[in-house]
Amino acid sequence: MCGIFAYTGHKPNAANIILDGLKTLEYRGYDSWGIAVETSKGIAVEKHIGKIGDAQIRLPNAVRGIGHTRWATHGGVTVENSHPHLDCTREIALLHNGIVENFAELKKDVNDHTFRSQTDTEVVVHLIENLCSMYPFTEAVMIAFKKLKGLNAIVVMHNKTGETVALKNGSPLVIGIGEKEYFIASDVTGILPYTHKVIFLKDNEMAVVADTLHMVDVHTGKNLTPQIEEIHWNMENADKGKFTHFMLKEIFEQPSILQNLATTNDRIAILARYVRKAKGTFFIGAGTAYNASLAGAYLFSKIAKQHVNTAPASEFNYLEDFLHEKSLVIALSQSGETIDIIEPMNRAKEKKATVIGILNTIGSTLYRMSDEVFLLGAGPEKAVASTKAYTAKLATLLLLVYTLCNKREEGQKIVTDAATEIQRFFSDTYLLQMQRLAKKLKNTQHLYTIGRGYAYPTALEAALKIKEVSYIHAEGFAGGELKHGPIALIEKGTPCIVFAPQDTTYSAIISNATEVKARGGYIIGVASQHAPIFDEWVEIKDIGIGSIISGIVPMQLLAYYLAVMKKLDPDKPRNLAKSVTVK
Ligand code: GLU
Repeated sequence: MCGIFAYTGHKPNAANIILDGLKTLEYRGYDSWGIAVETSKGIAVEKHIGKIGDAQIRLPNAVRGIGHTRWATHGGVTVENSHPHLDCTREIALLHNGIVENFAELKKDVNDHTFRSQTDTEVVVHLIENLCSMYPFTEAVMIAFKKLKGLNAIVVMHNKTGETVALKNGSPLVIGIGEKEYFIASDVTGILPYTHKVIFLKDNEMAVVADTLHMVDVHTGKNLTPQIEEIHWNMENADKGKFTHFMLKEIFEQPSILQNLATTNDRIAILARYVRKAKGTFFIGAGTAYNASLAGAYLFSKIAKQHVNTAPASEFNYLEDFLHEKSLVIALSQSGETIDIIEPMNRAKEKKATVIGILNTIGSTLYRMSDEVFLLGAGPEKAVASTKAYTAKLATLLLLVYTLCNKREEGQKIVTDAATEIQRFFSDTYLLQMQRLAKKLKNTQHLYTIGRGYAYPTALEAALKIKEVSYIHAEGFAGGELKHGPIALIEKGTPCIVFAPQDTTYSAIISNATEVKARGGYIIGVASQHAPIFDEWVEIKDIGIGSIISGIVPMQLLAYYLAVMKKLDPDKPRNLAKSVTVK
């Protein structure tokens, strides 16, 4: 969500450098974008709604500028609401990530200014304009920033002073230090082609970039010594290869990722040591990662006979009062930037709990803040809807519980079997069956998924995948919950996907399917054996507990084909962002 890229240096094509930088941040999801550059006649701005695509920028040559991809929170998706925003004198340009929670209150102080947008952001630039009549620019920015409530990052440029200022509280910002040039960005990817020397800005630190760089502590106003880090990794990039969409490519990558996890990773033993030592383990995640945490809770109970707590990361904020210094909080995240995860992890750290990140993105905020990290090694996941990072998380959790029981090899075998089973789904016959099913379901308004035990997180994840990319209203329920409400929704022909593995849940879930069928529901059974109740059978192999990993893949394929058949872009679903950096 929201991307920031800024340049200050000697190269005359600042606007193009910024445009290229913004392109590397496109994965974050956005609905509009804009760039502002310094010129001798004041600040020049260009803004657009929609995606950057092959846009050519028309801004004049400049050696300094700031750029932004916006994910609208306050005010519609319009050119006026896109960032950067200017003050009334057009000497100050500002861009922002986050939500200024008290913007309405702050606006009262600048009511006499001319507002050109409906955003919360624009208030900040007018506040700075007012403060500039009393304080030097950088101090004015600092004072204004301290007034903001919420989690925010801002980058502000003054046309006359030659300064660009970056501050943050929450969302990530990285400063790149090149040869007589500086970069400011939401993540390091776009900076690495120019320099490997970076500063990861901490909350309430201000970086002032001009001919030189200096850093200030926002609370004390004192100068700070910049903590420059040398980055030793290159960000992998990905292209679609022979696939039409990243989502399909990423689905197909799963067997090899799982094989790698099963055979090459010994960092699991380190994770197991932390779990053994902890007095209370908590798994948190958002969206798909939460479904993986939930699956983890089942695995811990069944295999390791251990109780772990799990909660959606955004709710953990309100559940964490019982954390103490012996607690262990494990966050699951693809991007490592999700603000709903970073916030509770910060609080857990304040309470001296140990925090571990199981994540896919090296160098991310979660990566840097964790006491220990485990990298999923799934490679860049570009499609907004997560697929390969989900199964990689499940495999990691499964290996972890088996390692805890000193049965690591057994765990490795299960993950390998899951990889083999997933590969089977990619045969032409199987893919054709999923396409046929998608064709049948594409006009449906509502769809339900049910499962019990291990298959419950799978049911939740299947519904999430379907709604994310096909916009069909899909809800997942625990089979036993059906009678406590959701069954009221079943009408003649309502599709219900039933996960029926050959385990202790089998007869109960088949009973639930029968109840749905009795009300006219259309039953799609995902099972290793055909049951008479099924109107449609998606055959999966019975690979025991490994189905917790492989069982979701036919549903990932179904979601993908539903999107394609509805002529939607599965890689960039509307309203969604890969990296959710606002609360
Ligand atoms: N709240 C701001 C807006 O709606 C910033 C959104 C963002 O982070 O992209 O313009």
